[in-house]
Amino acid sequence: MITVTGANKRYGSFAALDDVSLDIPDGSLTALLGPSGSGKSTLLRSIAGLETLDSGVVRIGDREVTDVPPQKRDIGFVFQHYAAFKHMTVRDNVAFGLKIRKRPKREIAARVDELLGIVGLDGFQHRYPAQLSGGQRQRMALARALAVDPQVLLLDEPFGALDAKVRADLRTWLRRLHEEVHVTTVLVTHDQEEALDVADRIAVLNKGRIEQVGAPAELYDRP
Ligand code: ADP
Ligand code: ADP
Repeated sequence: MITVTGANKRYGSFAALDDVSLDIPDGSLTALLGPSGSGKSTLLRSIAGLETLDSGVVRIGDREVTDVPPQKRDIGFVFQHYAAFKHMTVRDNVAFGLKIRKRPKREIAARVDELLGIVGLDGFQHRYPAQLSGGQRQRMALARALAVDPQVLLLDEPFGALDAKVRADLRTWLRRLHEEVHVTTVLVTHDQEEALDVADRIAVLNKGRIEQVGAPAELYDRP
């Protein structure tokens, strides 16, 4: 479980996070939903330990995230504009974290194959990032973030730069991925439909505060 307790973050007199507390259950796919500027990214970055809070605590399991050195934090991150290594193939990009961890070659090969299968990129192993579409690139980013089996997967508007058709397609991939891998996932989005489609829990943010938290069906009356 990820627990955020009493998080406050100000920029000058502006409260980006205003006394935010939130529990994120293990294995859930939780969306942080809200308009631009509502504090979603700041909250996500706080969960990653990348933001120095003015007050409050973030715990992953029973450890305070900032007590764990950055290189030991077991977190996968995917951003809107994912920077892949351009001179590495899809396979090598996905394998990167495993190679750094000096995992056995055979284990790396099997894991990369499995992940490329789950995100629908088998057959693309030997391509370079520039030879992929935007949607394929974000699927590669998901595979790469998951390769090292992180405890937590954080997604900051991962599909934000793509057109509507591709976004819808990627929601399906994300749901499928989550069903297979079950890693605790936090998705930042300003797109209500995206949150309703993929998340099993939604935290609605506005002006740095959490207004509501619950399952999609508890929060929204959808026709
Ligand atoms: P969201 O992800 O919901 O768009 P953010 O968490 O990125 O919101 O930002 C919340 C507010 O905090 C925004 O108004 C933003 O301009 C402000 N903000 C974020 N980072 C900084 C910063 N480094 N300096 C000043 N203001 C910031
Ligand atoms: P995005 O909309 O892609 O999430 P943002 O514009 O919210 O990106 O933020 C990008 C970076 O700029 C973040 O590191 C954030 O902290 C910083 N930032 C955002 N708003 C401000 C601001 N008003 N002043 C200074 N830095 C900011």
